[in-house]
Amino acid sequence: MAGATDFPGLAAPRGSRYTRPMHTYDADLIIVGGGLVGAALAASLAQTPLSVLLLEGRVPQFDFDPASWDARVYAISRASRRLLTGIGAWQRMNPARLQAVSTMCIFGDDARSRLEFAAPEAGVDELAVILENRELQRALWQTVAELPNVTVLAPATPAALAVDADAATVTLADGRVLCTRLVVGADGAQSWVRTQIGSEVAAHSYDQWGVVANFECDKPHLGVAHQWFFDDGVLAWLPLAGSRMSMVWSCGDAQRQHLLALEPAALAECVAAAGGRRLGALRQIGATAAFPLQLNRVSRTVAARVALIGDAAHTVHPLAGQGVNLGFGDVAELARVLSAELPARCGDYLVLRRYERARREPVALMRTACDGLQKLFNNKNPLLKTLRNVGLGLTDQQAWLKHRLIRHAMDA
Ligand SMILES: Cc1cc2nc3c(=O)[nH]c(=O)nc-3n(C[C@H](O)[C@H](O)[C@H](O)COP(=O)(O)OP(=O)(O)OC[C@H]3O[C@@H](n4cnc5c(N)ncnc54)[C@H](O)[C@@H]3O)c2cc1C
Repeated sequence: MAGATDFPGLAAPRGSRYTRPMHTYDADLIIVGGGLVGAALAASLAQTPLSVLLLEGRVPQFDFDPASWDARVYAISRASRRLLTGIGAWQRMNPARLQAVSTMCIFGDDARSRLEFAAPEAGVDELAVILENRELQRALWQTVAELPNVTVLAPATPAALAVDADAATVTLADGRVLCTRLVVGADGAQSWVRTQIGSEVAAHSYDQWGVVANFECDKPHLGVAHQWFFDDGVLAWLPLAGSRMSMVWSCGDAQRQHLLALEPAALAECVAAAGGRRLGALRQIGATAAFPLQLNRVSRTVAARVALIGDAAHTVHPLAGQGVNLGFGDVAELARVLSAELPARCGDYLVLRRYERARREPVALMRTACDGLQKLFNNKNPLLKTLRNVGLGLTDQQAWLKHRLIRHAMDA
């Protein structure tokens, strides 16, 4: 952190016994990062007396060609849907671009091992909803834009952060100085805010990439999501609205380069073949993209007057599709903790510790589950190979275990 400072021009009130400076706050809270998680937190504070400044480094662009489809899609859990509905963002999305997942089929790397989760087994209509990053981002930004207690500054880049007993001061790259009670870092996996509080990151690179692309399918997907665990990676097909599907192929660098070099027709053929042509012939729509996959374990997610949420606080392997859902879990918890306090206390370390403690277990559980699965399946040991395939089959036969796994994933 840039070190405690006094604030020039802000003297203690006359006659006061205290020598601490008094502050004029530009907002009770400054959220750095207006991605899905930061914007959702701003919207979640609509019913509180807190004033919020949302700083985003990029100017949001939402004039997309409606005929195109974002290659970055999410499987939104029931808990995240509840949060997004509660803040009014869900209702702003175009229903024609949302796809419910009715069934999830998981395959091991021998032809027989298979595990299937169906929504009726958990007594629900859907396991998750697949939607595009940009559609949800648009809905969240439109929600936030209408809130009287939220001001958006975009583009805005913070250059310095200083904290003292009463306030945090954020100096922007353009020289503006903003004073607040609490800074929330929602600025993604490479978080600038996290660096400022000296929180250490144990980063583990999987030496894998998530290669993503969308396809039109010959056969209807019927709301079924597919996932194949191969020796050298994981292939997921997520049903998209209409007769489309979105692929996430978690793979090594050589395979990433191979996939990125393929022409659309060749990529479609390669992906169709890898998935046993379960959706017939495929035609690629839009471009192919690749993201590096990394696990980040962050030493602390709060400090005096600072809290981290979303990918700034943790990243997990996308094989369970839970990264953004974990971030929305942070939002729900931090909003709950802050709503229960007087605005003057929102930056207090002890208040923020309540948020940190409440999130420790769910985040650790998800990280361990995703990391364990990644290691179990990204392994050529013949014994492990047999065990994991048998494990999938056995789990498939245990109705109670499946029921519990489904409910856990939906409520994550
Ligand atoms: C290939 C892949 C597939 C995935 N699939 C899924 C899935 O199916 N389901 C799922 O739940 N998750 C998935 N994830 C994870 C998911 O993408 C992330 O968990 C999620 O985007 C995190 O949101 P965030 O708002 O915390 O961070 P980000 O999305 O990284 O947003 C951070 C925001 O902060 C802004 N910013 C950054 N630095 C600054 C700064 N210094 N000043 C101002 N603004 C700043 C950025 O411009 C950005 O808008 C996937 C990830 C990958 C890589």
